[in-house]
Amino acid sequence: MWKKNLWTPLSPILRRRFPSFSLNSTLNIPSSTIFSSPCSSTAQYSRVFWSSSYDFLGSLKFSRKLCSAQSAEQVHVRCWNCKAAAQTTPFLACDSCRSVQPVDPSVDYFQIFGLEKKYELEDNNLEGKYKDWQKKLHPDLVHSKSEEEKEYAAEQSARVIDAYQTLSKPLARAIYILKLEGVDFDEEQTISDISFLAEIMEIREAVEEAVNSETLLQIQSQVQEKLKHWSQSFSNAFQSGKFEEAVISVQRMTYYVRVNDEIMKKL
Ligand SMILES: [Zn+2]
Repeated sequence: MWKKNLWTPLSPILRRRFPSFSLNSTLNIPSSTIFSSPCSSTAQYSRVFWSSSYDFLGSLKFSRKLCSAQSAEQVHVRCWNCKAAAQTTPFLACDSCRSVQPVDPSVDYFQIFGLEKKYELEDNNLEGKYKDWQKKLHPDLVHSKSEEEKEYAAEQSARVIDAYQTLSKPLARAIYILKLEGVDFDEEQTISDISFLAEIMEIREAVEEAVNSETLLQIQSQVQEKLKHWSQSFSNAFQSGKFEEAVISVQRMTYYVRVNDEIMKKL
């Protein structure tokens, strides 16, 4: 029973396929896991696979500059309604007439919140920035506007929600920043490390057999230590451009996150 659950794909939404990317020639990763145009994807997938409440934002240290060439396209953007030049980057809503702007898929999630593209997030006030955007983009604010602008607001608001949910969770953030590098994470790729699978099985059995919250919390503490370890491993591998190692770390994180979710359900 546990094994079946263990191998269940996270979500079909995660398995969106993209055209091949140049990294395919240098990485030993199946072509189906590679996609192109890391700065232009509008894939929305994060909310489906990490529901846990814990987090360890800010515990990792590295910085990587990505997608720097695309900002030039935004220089001459104007409001579709009042024609005022874009006052902010990214330009999601006009400060002059308050019109919500069409989605620009070249703007990535880090740019939405004015963040440097890196796995580590510290003192970022992500939640505050998210709430600020929703005050400007929420569909309720444009209920009396044109159908066109209602559509813009619905799309922008949904995208900001997805961006927030993606960046606020380490696993989702790791997968997303890999994607920006052109490396897709394939949840169907099996792990062949027997000792790791045995460890996961033992933890899951311990969770199933736990009879009180104290025991569950002890197990959860160990699981979260494992998550921090693999998160750090991901950070190191990603910073070094070792994307295969980074993917392995994300795979491990995925298993521990699932176990943590099981613990949360029992608590
Ligand atoms: Zn305007």
